[in-house]
Amino acid sequence: MTDKKDYDIIVAGSGMSGSLAATMAARKGLKVLLLDRNKREEAGKKTNWGWVCGDAVADSHLQFIKSYIDISFDYPELDKKVDGVYALSPDLKSKFLFEGKGYVLNRPRFEQKLLDMAIKSGAEYVQEFEVEGPVIENNSVVGVFGKDANKEHREYRAKVTIDALGIATTLRRRLPENNFVEKMIDIDDIESTGRYIYSFEVDHEDKLYYDPNNALIHLNQRMAPGGYGWVFPKNGNRVNIGIGVQKRSLDIRNKKLGKTDTLHTLMDEYVKSNPVIKNPVLDNEFNNGKGYWSVAVRRQMESLVFNGYMGAGDSMAMPNPISAGGIGPALVSGILAGKNAAEAIEKNDTSVNGLWGYNLEFNKEYGNKTAGLEVFRIYLQSLNDDIINYGMKNFLTSKEAEGLSYGKTPELSLAAKFKFALKGAANVSAFSNLLFAIGKMKEFNALYSRYPSSPKEFDAWKAEVKERMEDVKNRFKPNPV
Ligand SMILES: Cc1cc2nc3c(=O)[nH]c(=O)nc-3n(C[C@H](O)[C@H](O)[C@H](O)COP(=O)(O)OP(=O)(O)OC[C@H]3O[C@@H](n4cnc5c(N)ncnc54)[C@H](O)[C@@H]3O)c2cc1C
Repeated sequence: MTDKKDYDIIVAGSGMSGSLAATMAARKGLKVLLLDRNKREEAGKKTNWGWVCGDAVADSHLQFIKSYIDISFDYPELDKKVDGVYALSPDLKSKFLFEGKGYVLNRPRFEQKLLDMAIKSGAEYVQEFEVEGPVIENNSVVGVFGKDANKEHREYRAKVTIDALGIATTLRRRLPENNFVEKMIDIDDIESTGRYIYSFEVDHEDKLYYDPNNALIHLNQRMAPGGYGWVFPKNGNRVNIGIGVQKRSLDIRNKKLGKTDTLHTLMDEYVKSNPVIKNPVLDNEFNNGKGYWSVAVRRQMESLVFNGYMGAGDSMAMPNPISAGGIGPALVSGILAGKNAAEAIEKNDTSVNGLWGYNLEFNKEYGNKTAGLEVFRIYLQSLNDDIINYGMKNFLTSKEAEGLSYGKTPELSLAAKFKFALKGAANVSAFSNLLFAIGKMKEFNALYSRYPSSPKEFDAWKAEVKERMEDVKNRFKPNPV
C-alpha cells in the first residue's frame, strides 16, 4: 500500500539523531514523518538487547543542541555528572585525560525526552514500522518501504529521506550504486561490543578500577584486543561496564595465546577482575541490563548525502574512531541534517547538489578530524601492551594525548623524545611508526580542511582519501599480543 499523504521529510529511526532531525525540520514548519520499529515508550531502543551503549557524552555536545533548540537536561535523563574520561595504560601506570566534563546518561529517559520533543514540535510519529529499504525513482530516493504494525507492506514518500537507522541501516545499504555514500563498512573498522549495568558493593577504594567522579577506559590488548574496556559510574553504586573488541585482533590474540575467548567470556572476565566491584547485581530497569551491539570506528562516510537522501549518526559511521563516542556526532548531525533538509526543500533542490551544504556543515562542526583519528586508531591496534605501556609513559605528554582526542596532532619534540624511544628495538619502531601516523593525521586534517565545496570535485578528493587510508592500513596490521 502506498500512503497517499506525501511528506516533505521522512526521518527513518527515532534514536537521538532521528528525533533531533525531526524536531529541527518540524520546527521549520515542514511536514515530517518519523518512523521507528519501537513503540513510543521504548524510544531509541537499538535492538532486542536494549539501548546498548556506554552512555557517556561530553557536555559540549549537549550545549550544541541547546544552541539550536530550547531544551534543558537534568536528572533523571542525566544520570551522573563526570569530571572527565581517563584512558589508562595496560599496566595502569599512565593515565591520560581524554575528554572533559560530561554525563553518563539514563539512556531510555534521554531518548524519550528527545522523541517527545519531536512529536511536540509537530512530527508525525509512526511506531512499530520496520523500514526495509529506500524507494528509488530516477536515481533518487523518494521514500521508504517496509512493514507496518500489522506486518503489511507500505510505502511512504517524501522529498527528502533522512537515514537515522543506526549502524545496521537498511537504507544506506540498499542505495543504488553510487560514488557518494558507500554501502558497506570494512569489518576491521567495526568493534563488537557488550556491556552490563550493575549495582554493586564497593570492596575498597581504587580509582584505577572505579572512580565515582570520572569515566575510566582501560587499554589492554589481552583483555580487549583491538579495543578497550570501560567502567563508567552511574548514580548510586551503579556502573556501566563493558568492552569492545576488533574481531581480527581477537582472532590473532586467541591464536597466539592458544585460547578460545569470545566477547562474552572476555566481558565476564573483565567484570570479575575488577577488585572494586563486589557482588554485582544486574540493574535491569527497562530490560536494559545486558546487551551486545556493534559500533563503527572509521571516519564518517565521505559523503552524507545522495539524491533525496541524507544520513545522520551511526548510519553514517560517525562515532569517534578512537573512543567510539557516537552520541556527540549523532546529536550534532541530527540537528544539522534536519536544518539542511529544510533549507534544501525551501530552495526546491533536494538533489545531491541541493543537499551538499549538510556535508560542509557537518565536516566543519565535527567531521574534519575523524579521518586523522582513524589513522591513530589503526596505529594503536598495531601495538602490544608492552609498547602501549612504554609509549604512554614516554612518547606523549598528557596534554598531547588530550589534544589527540579532539583531533589535534601532537607536536612531538623529536630530539627530546627520541632518547626515550631508543630503549629497545620494538620501541624505536613504534616511535617511528608514531611519527608516520602523526604525519598521516596531518595530511588528513589538511585534506578534510579542503572538503569539496560541491559534488563536482568529490570524486578526485575521495580517491585521495582512499589512497592515503590504504597506505595506513598497509603499514599497520593488528598485532595485539
Ligand atoms: C556497547 C556500546 C557502547 C557505546 N558507548 C558509547 C559511549 O559511552 N558514548 C558515546 O558517545 N557513544 C557510545 N556508543 C555509540 C552510541 O551508542 C551511538 O553512536 C548512538 O546510539 C548513535 O545514535 P543514532 O541515533 O545514530 O542510532 P541508534 O541509537 O542506533 O538509533 C537507531 C534507531 O533506529 C531504529 N531502527 C533501526 N533499524 C530500524 C528499522 N529497520 N526500521 C525501523 N526502525 C529502525 C532503532 O530502533 C533506533 O530507535 C556506544 C555504542 C555501543 C554499541
